[in-house]
Amino acid sequence: MLQPSPWRADFPAIAALQRQHQTYLDSAATAQKPQALLDALAHYYGNGAANVHRAQHLPGALATQAFETSRNKVAAWLNAEQASQIVFTHGATSALNLLAYGLAHRLEAGEEIAISALEHHANLLPWQQLAQRRNLRLVVLPVDASGHIDLEQALQLIGPRTRVLAVSQLSNVLGTWQPLQALLAHARAQGAITVVDGAQGVVHGQQDVQQLGCDFYVFSSHKLYGPDGVGVLYGRSQALPLLRHWQFGGEMVQVADYQSASFRPAPLGLEAGTPPIAGVIGLGATLGYLGSLDASAISAHEATLHQHLLRGLAERDGIRLVGAPDTALASFVVEGVHHADIAHLLTEQGIAVRAGHHCAMPLLNGLGLDGAIRVSLGMYNDGDDLQRFFSALDQALELLR
Ligand code: PMP
Repeated sequence: MLQPSPWRADFPAIAALQRQHQTYLDSAATAQKPQALLDALAHYYGNGAANVHRAQHLPGALATQAFETSRNKVAAWLNAEQASQIVFTHGATSALNLLAYGLAHRLEAGEEIAISALEHHANLLPWQQLAQRRNLRLVVLPVDASGHIDLEQALQLIGPRTRVLAVSQLSNVLGTWQPLQALLAHARAQGAITVVDGAQGVVHGQQDVQQLGCDFYVFSSHKLYGPDGVGVLYGRSQALPLLRHWQFGGEMVQVADYQSASFRPAPLGLEAGTPPIAGVIGLGATLGYLGSLDASAISAHEATLHQHLLRGLAERDGIRLVGAPDTALASFVVEGVHHADIAHLLTEQGIAVRAGHHCAMPLLNGLGLDGAIRVSLGMYNDGDDLQRFFSALDQALELLR
């Protein structure tokens, strides 16, 4: 018998979904939201919205204060040295595009950008398109059978021509933690700028960017139980000034005339236009909630559920796991049955899982797959959710085989 999730009741949508006969097992796509976030959004919108960093009036001052308090909270959450190292974007995707534009001026034709074979399209396509525009070489670090970047080969492939290394911390398809410590240390020794896509990693255990030793770390708030429309880019103090301004407009400018302008440094210089104010305030409230919990209890709960998920899949005939997931999720295929058919029957039974290529088409193709089913766990999931999933899966397979 698995322990219930002590945090389930903090997420009102879980009960609402249950009333709609839905079992939510797709948290790696986006997570449900805690009451603390809903309260923060209602408080902000209910008490007077205002734009930040520009108005002298009281609502403007309060919004700016709440917005900048969130920047402090994010910095503390990641153990950044200063709040000014945190740039708010509209998501991990926009943070990665910011990097691919902001770093472009540092790359010369023939130089190399290294990514891994397991990257989400968000950490592949911005670099691929940059490589095409600037005549650079995109080097793809291979992944071994368990789903980890092959360190031995990677250390050979990252050399003095490597100007940027951009890799995922935790694979959204394979559920594997990547050997970042060794990879990042090696890349930095070669003089490369290091970028970590923390979109999945940030959700499972608190990450320490100083310990990680990366130049840049990005994530999306919505996967970390926060609101959507908000992303975070952390940059090392020495790395942030390397970025060229990439989007132009209000608030990022120092002085402008018709023919020229000068721009603010990060973070505000990289936050052109009105930022997602409510979302940033909501992310701060979400971190406040998460920070009040016992992180080791959450990890233990997720680990127990994950073991149960893996055991249940292993017990069933014909199911093949994709890679050997370390945490939080499992992707699988079933011999002789198309993933879309399984997904259809799971959906009909109210099981919300993800099916398809998971925005990692080259990885799936490389594994000889055109898609897979992914079950992903959040802190609010419990043994009953998995039981409902397995009985729906058994029903589906009985019909399809
Ligand atoms: N990287 C990884 C590993 C992801 O899983 C995702 C989201 N699926 C992203 C980047 C992109 O995040 P977003 O769509 O929130 O910008």
